[in-house]
Amino acid sequence: MHATINSSANTQQYIDLEERYGAHNYHPLPVVLDRGEGVFVYDVDGKRYYDFLSGYSAVNQGHCHPKIIASLVAQATKLTLTSRAFHSDLLGKYEQFVTAYFGYDKVLPMNTGVEAVETALKLARKWAYEVKSIDHNKAVIVVCDGNFHGRTTGVITFSSDPSAKDNFGPFSGGYSVVPYNDINALSKAFQNKNVAAFLFEPMQGEAGVLVPDEGYLTAIRNLCTKYNVLMIADEIQTGLARTGKMLACDHEDVRPDILILGKALSGGVLPVSAVLADDEIMLTIKPGEHGSTYGGNPLACAVAITALQVLKDENLVANAAAMGELLRSEIRKLNSPFIALVRGKGLLNAIVIKHSNPEAAWDLCLTLKENGLLAKPTHGDKIRFAPPLLITKEQVLECVAIIDNSLQSL
Ligand code: PLP
Repeated sequence: MHATINSSANTQQYIDLEERYGAHNYHPLPVVLDRGEGVFVYDVDGKRYYDFLSGYSAVNQGHCHPKIIASLVAQATKLTLTSRAFHSDLLGKYEQFVTAYFGYDKVLPMNTGVEAVETALKLARKWAYEVKSIDHNKAVIVVCDGNFHGRTTGVITFSSDPSAKDNFGPFSGGYSVVPYNDINALSKAFQNKNVAAFLFEPMQGEAGVLVPDEGYLTAIRNLCTKYNVLMIADEIQTGLARTGKMLACDHEDVRPDILILGKALSGGVLPVSAVLADDEIMLTIKPGEHGSTYGGNPLACAVAITALQVLKDENLVANAAAMGELLRSEIRKLNSPFIALVRGKGLLNAIVIKHSNPEAAWDLCLTLKENGLLAKPTHGDKIRFAPPLLITKEQVLECVAIIDNSLQSL
């Protein structure tokens, strides 16, 4: 009893500090973490939790993966940043590694996910004018309703989420929005000869883990080829083994023209993102036309090579596929009246909560936390279940027992 009181007072002081001195742009669960290892995180009182968010899929390889941390530490003691004013001994090595890994001619390294999205949009526009010969300033990029690609002023221009946009205008043009998973609408949008590219998530993550119909990715590929439109896959959340394939596009064996990666490219260690494309697209950007002080820094290069190597060495694609199947089927077996739906691929999953109380998903996450599992609701009634990809069968079963237990309290 005493420990509980102490623990909450201890936790509260950290929360109070953030509340007092930090901007209020997030609404976290009331848990304060100070350590992570593999699938687990620990709070400031030493309590252990399963991490079912994985830093929004940045920590696919598990918290503080020893090999990734070893690369970080070794490189940090040697050289961390040169800027792109000078060459480094690691940039070319990383570029060779990552382009061979994913099968593209070139990579443009950035830091956060949204920067990589911005990079892809700029590349698409350059290509539109210089290769496709679209009239000056007329290029249109088609995007999906319900998308989430980040939060810069450029990217929120085409968000359909009022909380991302309200009072952040004015917005620029150049985008057209179609419903997600609707190939007829896409085909109609492509009738405009000024369409340069289609930017989409192979599964919509923030929207609540929406899995499109089988054949959607193939149909996108075919339409893009037919109309000479660039297919831009934002795999920042779905990529890097998360959905049980190296890329979510691999579920239908389609190759995007521009591939955007982020998050787990560093295993959750530092912000590392990348845009991959072939020469016809990538070489439209010339020196001085795009860049970032930290993009492609030696520390990021060292970490990313190891983070990608770990995905293969530890068979995380296969484990994500198998453990995802197990997780979904075991949750379905619970037959809970409060779960309207279980959906996902690999270890990117969500449950949709059905309850008369609109706060039920949040309340369930609080109970899950009490019972040792951290997850976060999105859009009110959906809870994402996305643990690190090295989770074992025994751990999945233990987590399902925690979920079962917690549902009883609703
Ligand atoms: N694109 C997708 C699909 C994402 O899920 C996210 C983040 O959740 C982003 C882009 C933005 O990435 P970042 O937060 O690193 O800017």
